Amino acid sequence: MASVLIALGGNVGDVRTTFAKAIAHICGMAQAAVIARSSDYTTPPWGDEDQDPFVNACVEIETDLDPHALLFVMQKVEQKFGRTRTKDRRWGPRTLDLDMIAYDDVSMAKPDLTLPHPRLFERAFVLVPLAEIAPDRVISGIRVRDGLASVSTQGIERLSDTG
Ligand code: AMP
Repeated sequence: MASVLIALGGNVGDVRTTFAKAIAHICGMAQAAVIARSSDYTTPPWGDEDQDPFVNACVEIETDLDPHALLFVMQKVEQKFGRTRTKDRRWGPRTLDLDMIAYDDVSMAKPDLTLPHPRLFERAFVLVPLAEIAPDRVISGIRVRDGLASVSTQGIERLSDTG
């Protein structure tokens, strides 16, 4: 079984409900089990700032699927929840964005899949939830908690469990 870290984000619709459904779909399609799930966080829009705040979270799953097969599942789940990549603004509003942050210690740079995710350590909105579930995981030679300590977390707030 591989241990895989997945980041979730969205800012359109009932994002927290979308996350719950998306995780259930990924696990069903990938025959995966959830090992850990972070809290949900509200985070300021990034890149394209003229949009609503995002909700972000991270999960760790275990699966036997290889990285590309899992990416295919993740893209199917994104499509199911209404994300149409061609119409999206590059950093614009979206119902659901799924990024594969790390797959065991696999390192690859293919046209459609780079592992570990190359922009992880620029993104406080991923590092905050990730540090909640995997603070001591070393990704690309950097411990997650150290990566978090070197970014600004201004405007990121944990949401209550009850929503
Ligand atoms: P984005 O719009 O930023 O979510 O990027 C989606 C594109 O990034 C897709 O076409 C994926 O094939 C590609 N991609 C490359 N590496 C990854 C990764 N680690 N996780 C998710 N998508 C990836």
